[in-house]
Amino acid sequence: MKGNIHSFEYLSTVDGPGVRFVVFLQGCNYKCLYCHNRDTWDHATNKEYSAQDIINEYNKYKEYYTNGGITVSGGEPLLQLDFLIELFSLCKENNIHITLDTSGQNFDLNDHRFNTLLDLTNLVLLDIKAPNNILHNKITGYDNTKPLNLLYYLDKSRINTIIRYVLVPTITDNENDLYELKKILDSLTYINKVEILPYHNMGKFKWNKYPLEGIREANIDDISKAYNIIGNKYKK
Ligand code: SF4
Repeated sequence: MKGNIHSFEYLSTVDGPGVRFVVFLQGCNYKCLYCHNRDTWDHATNKEYSAQDIINEYNKYKEYYTNGGITVSGGEPLLQLDFLIELFSLCKENNIHITLDTSGQNFDLNDHRFNTLLDLTNLVLLDIKAPNNILHNKITGYDNTKPLNLLYYLDKSRINTIIRYVLVPTITDNENDLYELKKILDSLTYINKVEILPYHNMGKFKWNKYPLEGIREANIDDISKAYNIIGNKYKK
């Protein structure tokens, strides 16, 4: 089986622990206003790689990944579930630490394949775009019911997870929303790390008409203020 791949990043230090090889999969259903991978949305076939092809790419620089591994991101990786199972199984055979970066929309808890995938995953990076459903819809075009259900499921199943939240000035930095996020975090019993990511506009050039024109990038003070609200104990 082949995966539909957008691109690779060979030396990432921001997509999970250590130095990592990041595989960006092609295709996403969300339409995030701040998406810096706008060019991954299209579901049409881009470049096809088998799981072994990807391990071969990883092996080219494997001496750099001793404390890292492979992160699968996108686009939305869960749209290619069967391919992920093949890839993650091969990673496991090769003793490679695997991180899944997902927005948590495209899954079915009753599908045994999804649980197989989670069993093969060492770490989940789960994007919570907004704790408030109206805002979530405004940002992504979808409800936040599924990502929140996945969050509670991962927590109950004690699966290593880091929540990711993109802080966008005037959009996701509202105090009420951050208090709502805190309420969700405080209700969890296992997951206890949140990475608040500062919004940046480096992907603007990939858009014809950028939706966040005029919105400033987030800075270190914005991030500190947000952690002060949700609780510094959640700082990743
Ligand atoms: S989920 Fe990720 S790739 Fe998809 S639109 Fe949102 S930011 Fe972009």
